[in-house]
This record gives sequence, C-alpha cells and structure tokens, in this order.
Amino acid sequence: MLKWLLSLLAGGLRSSNAPPHLPSRPLPTRRIALVVGHNPRAQGAVRVTDGRTEYDWCGALAEQVAALEPGRYVVIRRTPGAGEIARAYAEVDASGATASVELHFNSFSTPSATGTETLISGSAASRRLATLVQAEMVAALGLRDRGLKQTAPKQGGHAALNAGRPPAILIEPYFGSNRADCEAADRSLPALAAGIHRACLAYL
Ligand SMILES: [Zn+2]
Repeated sequence: MLKWLLSLLAGGLRSSNAPPHLPSRPLPTRRIALVVGHNPRAQGAVRVTDGRTEYDWCGALAEQVAALEPGRYVVIRRTPGAGEIARAYAEVDASGATASVELHFNSFSTPSATGTETLISGSAASRRLATLVQAEMVAALGLRDRGLKQTAPKQGGHAALNAGRPPAILIEPYFGSNRADCEAADRSLPALAAGIHRACLAYL
C-alpha cells in the first residue's frame, strides 16, 4: 500500500515536472540570417518565364529553407528608402546570427547567360560558407558552376557583404533572364532549399 502510494506520488511529481505542452528540444542557439534581396518597392530583376521578381521568388525560397528547421533561421526583409542595406544588416547583427546569406537571382541582357554563382566578402569564413552553399546549389540545379566571386568596392553586392558583423555571402542560384535556368529552379526548388539548409548546418 505504502509502495503504491509512493509510486503514485512519484508519478504525479514526474508529470508535473514535464508539462506536455513544452517543446522537447530547445531551439538552436547558432542561427543563420536569410536576407531577402531587394524590397517591396524595388523588387529587382524579373523572371523571363513568369514575371516573378527577385524579391518575390527569393522570399519564397527563404521561407522554404527556414521551414526545414524551426528556430535555425531568421528571415530578414530589406525595406525601401535610404540606408536600406545598413538597416537590414543592423537587424542581422541584432539577431545574433552566426552568418548571413542574402538571396538573389542573376539577370543578364544575353538570354543564354546561365549558371550558379555565390558572391563573397573575401573573409575566410565567408569563403567557407560560400564553398558549401555553392556546391549544394550546383548539385541541386545541375546548372553551370560559375564559382565564387569576390566583389570589389562599389560592385553589386559589396555593400551587403560588408555591412554586418557576421560572415556574409550572397547567392545567385540561376539566371532569371534564362528560360531553362528558371525551369531548372522551379523543378528543383525543394532540392535547392534542402541543399542550402544542409550547407548552413555543415558550416555551423
Ligand atoms: Zn538581385
């Protein structure tokens, strides 16, 4: 009888110590900031196949990556007006993210321009993250590997890559100006999101 009472008590204590509504695992502490390129008022390049903009398409890709592991990513959207880049990367800094990935797609006047590239700041950490992400994007999309590109001051992407404290990269998975590139991106979207996620985890 006493034994039964004690076990009943212990059981009651145990269940009150672990309420079922609490998450079983704590949220990750090392996080990646996903910065969506451009802003709602100036949405960047437009895809030749369906008119979707960088801001729209890259926003959807960022949400897909973030959904793969709740708490691992913070999605940051740039806002229009002076100081756009500085504001976005102040948010990156405030988020405590370990690194940042800014999302774009490429565009060129020659419709045959094709392939996948990643812009880097030039720091060793930026290069390491970019190497991992570039390999996964090339594997997912099967497009030409255009490699890593280090930006010079005043070049596109340079400000974004050097505005925040954590190591930064800027991805251009494909050319929105190339019909076959757009089709590859649509066909391989889940693989692209999963590949970016895998690369980020490998970096962390
Ligand atoms: Zn862009």
